[in-house]
Amino acid sequence: MARDTTGTLGKGDVVSNESLANLLKEERRFAPPAGLAAEANVSAEAYERAKADRLGFWAEQARRLSWETEPTETLDWSNPPFAKWFADGRLNVAYNCVDRHVENGLGDRVAIHFEGEPGDTRTLTYAELQREVSKAANALIELGVEAGDRVAIYLPMIPEAVVSMLACARIGAPHSLVFGGFSADALATRINDADARVVITADGGYRRGKPSALKPAVDEALTRPGTENVRSVLVVRRTGQEDIAWTDGRDVWWHDLVESQSDQHTPQAFDAEHPLFILYTSGTTGKPKGILHTTGGYLTQISYTHHAVFDLKPETDVFWCTADVGWVTGHSYIVYGPLSNGATEVLYEGTPDSPHQGRWWEIVQKYGVTILYTAPTAIRAAMKWGDDIPAKFDLSSLRILGSVGEPINPEAWVWYRKHIGAGRTPVVDTWWQTETGGIMISPLPGVTETKPGSAQIPLPGIAATVVDDDAREVANGHGGYLVLTEPWPSMLRTIWGDDQRYLDTYWSRFEHKYFAGDGAKKDDDGDIWLLGRVDDVMLVSGHNISTTEVESALVSHPKVAEAAVVGATDPQTTQAICAFVILRGDADANEEGLVEELRAHVGKQLGPIAKPKRILPVAELPKTRSGKIMRRLLRDVAENRTLGDVTTLTDSSVMTLIQTQLPAASSED
Ligand code: ATP
Ligand code: MG
Repeated sequence: MARDTTGTLGKGDVVSNESLANLLKEERRFAPPAGLAAEANVSAEAYERAKADRLGFWAEQARRLSWETEPTETLDWSNPPFAKWFADGRLNVAYNCVDRHVENGLGDRVAIHFEGEPGDTRTLTYAELQREVSKAANALIELGVEAGDRVAIYLPMIPEAVVSMLACARIGAPHSLVFGGFSADALATRINDADARVVITADGGYRRGKPSALKPAVDEALTRPGTENVRSVLVVRRTGQEDIAWTDGRDVWWHDLVESQSDQHTPQAFDAEHPLFILYTSGTTGKPKGILHTTGGYLTQISYTHHAVFDLKPETDVFWCTADVGWVTGHSYIVYGPLSNGATEVLYEGTPDSPHQGRWWEIVQKYGVTILYTAPTAIRAAMKWGDDIPAKFDLSSLRILGSVGEPINPEAWVWYRKHIGAGRTPVVDTWWQTETGGIMISPLPGVTETKPGSAQIPLPGIAATVVDDDAREVANGHGGYLVLTEPWPSMLRTIWGDDQRYLDTYWSRFEHKYFAGDGAKKDDDGDIWLLGRVDDVMLVSGHNISTTEVESALVSHPKVAEAAVVGATDPQTTQAICAFVILRGDADANEEGLVEELRAHVGKQLGPIAKPKRILPVAELPKTRSGKIMRRLLRDVAENRTLGDVTTLTDSSVMTLIQTQLPAASSED
């Protein structure tokens, strides 16, 4: 049976009484480069200021934006946990991301360097972006879209995705992005849940050197019950497939409708609490949840965190966030953060290994990327492919590296800094969630002495800590549950259409605290280390052991590129540690004694209790579309259950492959 952990936190029981074992010792430290520290956007003093007056601090950050009506109120928390930020203020998000820069004389600055997977390119200045967004807004209005109507966006990583989002924001129509790789079913569920009126899609996009169709999935989704309210499908021509099915009266080409519109559109201001978008979580722990974000608080925190965490200097930096726009990282740090700050950024359509494994590094070199923001899964893939690949490119423009999405293993962190950052750039490990909207815990590149594998400290204005089962803050050196103890501007406002589930999922485990679902520990300095989902924590012979720590120990072995660890029910030890490992390029899975060598390595790093009972070398791991390892599926396999919800899995054949390999592993015991 699939574990449904979406509505309850009952599985937290596993972490009872005793805090998560924290076994890993990581002693490396990296001070901020002196030059960067001297010129940094944000200095240590920001923490003090925010601590002295948290709401005053956020009110000050809200002034980064242009408001049509300045807010006089900062936070209304009279009906917790339903927050209102800057409630009497009014603003337009698209105006803040585009028009105001043009009005400030920056119309000729490049907003987006687009790089298509086949190698086609397009440059959009802020002035061009303003015209494109205005045309798209006029087109949506012609389709009858009104403020408050939901628009589903199912597009590849092309400029039209950004333009569509901004056009929706401009007219107050909340968007709901659905990752372009999702199936018709996943799309239908999300269209239905959000009750979308229009779908924006493309004939297809390029993936791994081939066109990959999108429109057929929309056609199929729209035959499903609950999608009847979709009046129009707006279709971008990207791949030019010829045999495209067409429903007259419903389907309309972008190049017909949008291109014929006026490029003038006057943005209208909306209330700060007007809905900006709905976005479904990745589904790592269960069925995805429709997270609702609103306007003024969201944009304030996204703009501030992008400025602070990446130390963005809009005149000189070239920013690149490699996430898909269909994931929250893409929303906040491709669209709303960089554009509200007037940044120049790269948008890349394809995969990192198309047509060769150096494609990303080639892009960094070509555009002179200075700030790179990516996920541990991509870093570990690059490690697996080999150090010699990035070494072929000039990456000297890079000055700051970021990571998000999963705990980053210290070994991957150090590799990233050394091989991508020339041993010179700070690495910021940023912890946050779809629900938090923006970065919450992260080093600041000009301030923090960084520790590989740790997200370290809540940003100025953010209150986070680690508590035990009884909601008591743990002492330094101990582990427990990561909680957020004060509301923050870009927090989710609810789960779309389900306030009760919002309360149950996030606010019921601990009174007056938001529980994020993640386990964490505080080290002796009080810095926070993420230990993975509490659902993933293993109970082995009376010890709580975090999957993250065992995975990090495995990845610190020179033959291992990536590891996923789960606890499988075991008659003797309650749970037994079961590890799935991907080996580095030059290692041989059939090598005699390999499994024993890896077990011994973990035993040496963490102690004998953490030695995996089983280790299985695999070619691939099951991942969500945003690149996160889906441990719950591996647990299903390890315990011989039918697989739980697989709709957000990238490639379901991976699971079949692992299932067929597993009996061989069991016989090793
Ligand atoms: P679902 O909630 O549907 O199970 P999900 O939690 O994977 O999916 P996201 O909102 O995309 O959906 O991911 C947020 C989660 O990702 C965090 O709760 C945390 O577990 C993990 N995460 C993100 N960044 C980091 C980080 N820097 N270090 C450790 N974990 C991280
Ligand atoms: Mg989550």
